[in-house]
Amino acid sequence: MSRIHGTPVFVAGAGALGNEVIKNLVLAGFRDITVADFDTVERSNLSRCVLFREESVGRNKAEVVAEAASELDPECRVTAVPDTIQRTDLSRFGILIGCLDSISARLHLNAHARFFRIPYVDGATDGFRGKMQTVFPKGPCLECGMNSTHLEELHRTFSCIPGETVRDPVILSSGITTTAVIAAMCVREVLKIVCGRTDLCVPGVSYYDGISGRTDVLEIGFRRGCPHHEGELSQ
Ligand SMILES: [Zn+2]
Repeated sequence: MSRIHGTPVFVAGAGALGNEVIKNLVLAGFRDITVADFDTVERSNLSRCVLFREESVGRNKAEVVAEAASELDPECRVTAVPDTIQRTDLSRFGILIGCLDSISARLHLNAHARFFRIPYVDGATDGFRGKMQTVFPKGPCLECGMNSTHLEELHRTFSCIPGETVRDPVILSSGITTTAVIAAMCVREVLKIVCGRTDLCVPGVSYYDGISGRTDVLEIGFRRGCPHHEGELSQ
């Protein structure tokens, strides 16, 4: 239990998946959690976010989640970062968890996880489907598992149209049952890592289909062309 108490965890995103993940982390015994999100709570979020309340509407999501999580366990310190993850120092954390709805933010977290050699667990949901992937410092990364469509979308995210704000076109909405499943899968991987049983971690991308109830694991290797392994692949 001391490893769980002592590991500082960073959660990127305080939306539906972030709510579920943080609730699970607190109940699992983590005592040092930081959550970052620049967005504010909207009324439409209330039905799928366990830590939001009516009075949360209009407030920053990370601050609301931090307060509510601290009430679940007063011994748990939950720090809110009401800002983008791009402006957050990630170096002090023992593990990173991605609960994001944009590819560009995911790749930012992926790059920093590799740079600081921190394990990174990424969750995503889309209706009845979801996926979870754990990235280890020496293994294939999130970008290795991305295809050309993902990368085209990323390019569009950074496209600049004068006078217009370009929003990331790939938004993965979430049904609450899928969110709960993926959040549990993410925190289960976090617990394996923190408890020193990385040998038990899912080896690749775990895909969950809420219609059939199936979970399939797709093992991935290093992708030639991924900017994070150029040196490793040439050896
Ligand atoms: Zn890679």
